[in-house]
Amino acid sequence: MLALDRLKLALAQARRESSLVGVMFLDLDNFKHINDTLGHDAGDNLLIEAARRISSCLRGTSTVARLGGDEFLVILPGLTGPEATSQVAERILKTFAPPYLLNGQEVFVTTSIGISVFPNDSDNSGTLLQHADAAMYQAKHKGKSAYALFAPEMTEVSHERLQMESLMRRALEQKEFELYYQPIVRTESGQLCSAEALLRWNNPGMGMVMPDRFIPLAEETGLITPIGEWVLREACLAAIRWKESTGTDIGISVNVSPRQFRDPGFVDTVMNALKASGLPPQQLELEITERLILDNTIETADILRQLDQSGIRLSVDDFGTGYSALSYLKSYPFDTLKIDKSFVQDVMKEREDASLVKAIINMAHSLGLSVIAEGVEEEAQTHFLQQEGCDYSQGYFYSRPMPENEFQEWLKTNHRAL
Ligand SMILES: [Mg+2]
Repeated sequence: MLALDRLKLALAQARRESSLVGVMFLDLDNFKHINDTLGHDAGDNLLIEAARRISSCLRGTSTVARLGGDEFLVILPGLTGPEATSQVAERILKTFAPPYLLNGQEVFVTTSIGISVFPNDSDNSGTLLQHADAAMYQAKHKGKSAYALFAPEMTEVSHERLQMESLMRRALEQKEFELYYQPIVRTESGQLCSAEALLRWNNPGMGMVMPDRFIPLAEETGLITPIGEWVLREACLAAIRWKESTGTDIGISVNVSPRQFRDPGFVDTVMNALKASGLPPQQLELEITERLILDNTIETADILRQLDQSGIRLSVDDFGTGYSALSYLKSYPFDTLKIDKSFVQDVMKEREDASLVKAIINMAHSLGLSVIAEGVEEEAQTHFLQQEGCDYSQGYFYSRPMPENEFQEWLKTNHRAL
């Protein structure tokens, strides 16, 4: 409230002096992810340090306020030209470059900045804030650690976001979500052993929406919980249908997002999906990303243990792309490592990638874990992986993700299937 009052005063003064006022909206990038993985205490320390860094870039007449969550407002009064706001924004981005020390770990945190200027963009404090917010989303969209000056067409972007959120709220009822399935095969024989369920959103207006476009928003809004529940239920039922049509057990892998995992009802949701479908727990594998595991809280360990004890398989997804704190591999009950496709794709071209993949396979095996290579696209890669004893493979070489009817067809017609 003090900040908004100061903004009004700054506008009144600027009117008298015919000067400009810069309004900046800052949002830390991936803050939720820090909270989710390192815990709320680390998140709070980060906010304090971030506030200190922002303040260090400003003159005494400026105001910094935390608006809530990881959002900060900066008021720059008495400017002589709009370009001064860009200079401040660049200083702030620079001061965010060094890592933060949280729980004894170095963590890199960036910020996205949206800027509006009085009187160029609006002469009203509320509208200036809205415009700075819209510009901030534009900065996030640029790839984060960026700033953007408000432009009139940006109000459409924030409108689009709101619209996407409301469409997503209705998508479950309207049955617009669909699961695609990508085969996971034994590297040695090429035979199918399981499939990864991948979420797609089929919206009449937007067409086919890929998860990277809507999952972050689903996490932000909490919609990930009902969506994730639907995915688990559907995926288990699909595995049962495949058993009925082929007479063979085919496992199913389901991706779990950090927010979904942290939901207090998560374990129950998984158990209910198994019970409702009749799928044996050994045939369900939950894929968990490294960044989720790094949250060393008792709850994480406890949830993983409960899932493990019920017989469900657990895998580390995108292995090698996160913080790769290897100690969790011995303390948590994982069954499988999925080597990220960024390593697999260059095993034939880059000696270093080949060495890394080899090392990961050896390490996993000596810890009693099996290994899935993701993103296998060429035959030569399969030979390499066979030679190195990689247990399972997944990728376009075998098959793209397919909608269920195609997957069923693939099961019937492909010699690799069974
Ligand atoms: Mg996955």
